[in-house]
Amino acid sequence: MEDLQLILKKEPKYRLKQVKEAVYRDLIGNWDFALTLPLSLRKQLNEKLPLEIKAEIFDSRDQKTTKALIELQDGNKIETVLMRYSEKRNTVCVSSQVGCPLSCTFCATGKMGLIRNLTADEIVNQVLLFGRIMKKEEDKVTNIVFMGMGEPFLNYDEVIKAIKILHDPEGMNLGIRHFSLSTSGITEGIEKFALEKMEVNLAISLHSPTQELREKLMPIAKKYHLTELFKAIQSYQKITRRKVMFEYLMLQDLNDSMDQALQLSKLLRGLSCMVNLIPYNETGVYKASSTQAINNFRRILEDNYIEVAQRYRFGEDIKAACGQLAIRKKG
Ligand code: SF4
Repeated sequence: MEDLQLILKKEPKYRLKQVKEAVYRDLIGNWDFALTLPLSLRKQLNEKLPLEIKAEIFDSRDQKTTKALIELQDGNKIETVLMRYSEKRNTVCVSSQVGCPLSCTFCATGKMGLIRNLTADEIVNQVLLFGRIMKKEEDKVTNIVFMGMGEPFLNYDEVIKAIKILHDPEGMNLGIRHFSLSTSGITEGIEKFALEKMEVNLAISLHSPTQELREKLMPIAKKYHLTELFKAIQSYQKITRRKVMFEYLMLQDLNDSMDQALQLSKLLRGLSCMVNLIPYNETGVYKASSTQAINNFRRILEDNYIEVAQRYRFGEDIKAACGQLAIRKKG
């Protein structure tokens, strides 16, 4: 944006609007297609701010999921995924970091460590890439979830900046309630986010009803104790009055027992929330819970008046499913 403003410095004010329309609405991949702009400006933009996004694309067998391996300008690579839920809902799962420092034991990205934070532009580009793909299908991106590589609250400012760019009515104009952000439980991030007064959905990766098991699954839980996490969630809800989603990965014989379902029900009692039970996509460490175990777990939560959703498996065959994003070396 700063580079763009510099280039447009001597141009009339309406140029910025024209540029935004070309990039975010017409979803052009080359400035030559921005026909509302003068030729000389198009040339200058192509030289200084090319719109090309380098990516390898992989489609799942059922065509519902597309994964993009995007090469950033410094050569680093990130993965981002499009999920076609229905005719009206096409969700992009964006990454907020190259790798992730948090080392959750069930997650392929965590094994990479953190390489660096992404800039807001690099986050927005993930959505633009799929916007361009959807346009060819005469469709569009409708929802964004920050559930790809990285912990969004460890790259707070750039994530918020990206949401504002994608929500901008002069740009892509994505409805603010169509954004969801998932955190591993960074309490200061949750508290800060509450004050943004943005109606973005907040999801918490919980995966365990007890501190002890949570620490084993997510080492970051040692820093952000379950008690502190729930205090932060309560104060978030006091300010925003928004429902929170808890993500719960179903891991065989680890967190899927009837007792644990009861413990979870107790932990969540009284909170405005929903639990998303996620079938585990094996990354070699744990085993996935059986359908029977998931159904039993679900029933106990529902018997205790906890709202439950069960996530559909997306893109397992192209390693685009939850927890599977990681850059693999060739060969
Ligand atoms: S699950 Fe999320 S927070 Fe945990 S290591 Fe993976 S990307 Fe990072």
